[in-house]
Amino acid sequence: MKNTQSTQLLFELSKPGCRAVQLPECDVPTKPLDELLPKESISKTAPPLPELSEPDVVRHFVNLSTKNFSVDTHFYPLGSCTMKYNPKRNERLASLPGMADLHPYQPESTLQGMLALLHQSQNMLAEIAGLPAVSLQPAAGAHGEMAALLVAAAYFRDRGERRTNVLIPDAAHGTNPASAAMADLKTVAVKSTPEGFVDLDDLAAKLDDRTAVFMITNPNTLGLFEPKIERIAKMVHDAGGLVYLDGANMNAILGVARPGDFGADLMHFNPHKTFSSPHGGGGPGAGPIAVAELLGPYLPTPVVVKDGEGYRLDYDRPKSIGRVRSFFGNVGVLVRMYCYLRSHGPEGLRRIAEDAVLNANYLLHRVKDILPVPHGERCMHEFVASSAALKAERGVTTMDIAKRLLDYGFHAPTVYFPLVVREAMMIEPTETESRAALDAFADALARIVEESPELLHEAPHETPISRPDEVQAARKPVLRWREEE
Ligand SMILES: *Cc1c(COP(=O)(O)O)cnc(C)c1O
Repeated sequence: MKNTQSTQLLFELSKPGCRAVQLPECDVPTKPLDELLPKESISKTAPPLPELSEPDVVRHFVNLSTKNFSVDTHFYPLGSCTMKYNPKRNERLASLPGMADLHPYQPESTLQGMLALLHQSQNMLAEIAGLPAVSLQPAAGAHGEMAALLVAAAYFRDRGERRTNVLIPDAAHGTNPASAAMADLKTVAVKSTPEGFVDLDDLAAKLDDRTAVFMITNPNTLGLFEPKIERIAKMVHDAGGLVYLDGANMNAILGVARPGDFGADLMHFNPHKTFSSPHGGGGPGAGPIAVAELLGPYLPTPVVVKDGEGYRLDYDRPKSIGRVRSFFGNVGVLVRMYCYLRSHGPEGLRRIAEDAVLNANYLLHRVKDILPVPHGERCMHEFVASSAALKAERGVTTMDIAKRLLDYGFHAPTVYFPLVVREAMMIEPTETESRAALDAFADALARIVEESPELLHEAPHETPISRPDEVQAARKPVLRWREEE
C-alpha cells in the first residue's frame, strides 16, 4: 500500500481567510455579544481554529481514512477479535428511522417493535447458548464478564456461601482476571498442559470451597476445543462452583455445540465479533450474557418480558444485581445482531461456524510450512504460529513480521498473545475470506520470512508512519495541537 499523501494537520493546512461556508449579510436586527453573554465569558481573542475551504476539509479526512487498515479495505486476520466482514444491509436496517430515532424515555406502548426485537434476540441467544435466561445490557464482552461474575457472587451470597475465588487458565484473555478484580473477586491461575489444554491436576488442586467460578474460553485462545470440557465442568460443579464460558470464540461453534450442553452455567457473547457489528477503534459493542435457570433471578434489571400480546420491561426483580448500563444497552449493536441472526437462520449460523473452521484449517496448513504452529495439526477458528525459532536463528521477531505485513497490504494478526506461546502470532481468517485471500496472505508470509533481518527490523516501509513509539504514545499522548501559551 503506497501511501505518500500528506499527513499534515488541518492547522498546518490552514490559510487565513479561507472559509467553507459564506453566509449572507444578516438582515435582521443584531445584538452585541455582551448583551447576550456575561462579560467574563467572552474571550478577547478568536479561537485558534484552522481556516480551510470545504474541499480541503473533505480531502483531508477522506485521505486520512484511506490510511487505515479496515475489514472493508484489507484482510484483517486479528486473532481472538473475529474481524469478519459486516454486511452493509445490517447497517442500513439499524439506521432506519424507526430504529435509530427511538428515544429510551418514550412510553413502552410506543416501543413495542423494539421490545419485540429485543425479546426475540434474548430468545435466540438463549437457544444458541443452551442457557435460558439472557440480559442484553452489558456494553462489551468484558462488561458481560463482570456482570456475570456479579450475578454469580449474588447467587452465592443469597445461598449464604462465601466463595471468593475465580479460577482462570493461564492462556485466558486479560479481561478475565480484570473482570474478576472489578467484581471484587480473587483470581487463581490454572496451568495449561504442553498440548494447550487445561491441566486437570492443577485444576483439581485449586478447586475448593472458596471457588466461585471457573472461567474458560472454549474453543480456547490457541484455537483448540477443550476435549475434557464435560469432565472439567463436573469437577467444578462437584466443588460447588459455577462454570463461566468466555464466548468470544463462539464463531467456531455456532449451532454446532451449545455451552449450556457442555456444562457452562454463565456466558457472554460478543455481538461485535460473532454477529457482525463493526468493531475496533473503540466503537460501541455489546456483551449480552446468558445464564442457567437458577441464576436468572440475579440478572441485571430490567429484562424484556412478554406480557399478553405485548412486551414490557420488567423491573420487579428483587434478587437482581441492578443495572449495569443505562437504558437497554447498546441497542444499535443489538439491532445489527438481530438482523444478522435472522438473515442467516439456524442453518446459516451453523454454516458460518463450519466455514470459519474450514478457512482457519486451510490457512493453518499453509502457514505451518512457513512458521511453526506449536499447538496443533488442526484448529477451530484460529491458530497460533510462533516466530521463536526465527528469532533464535536470525533475530527476526514476531513484531518485525507483523509490521512488514502492512507493506504487503495485510493487517497484522494478533501478536504476543496468548502468553503461553513465545513470539506468538494468532491468526483468525474468519469465514468471510476467499481462498484467494488466504493464499495471498500465506504467500506474503513466505516471502517475508526470507527477507533480510535489517529490512524487517525497519518495517513498515510503505506506510505514512513507520514505527511509532507505542509506550511513549500511551504514557505521554499528545492531544493538543500546540501547548497553551
Ligand atoms: C475480545 C475478547 C474479550 C473481551 O471482549 P470485549 O468485547 O473486547 O470487551 C474477552 N475474551 C476474549 C477471548 C476475547 O477475544
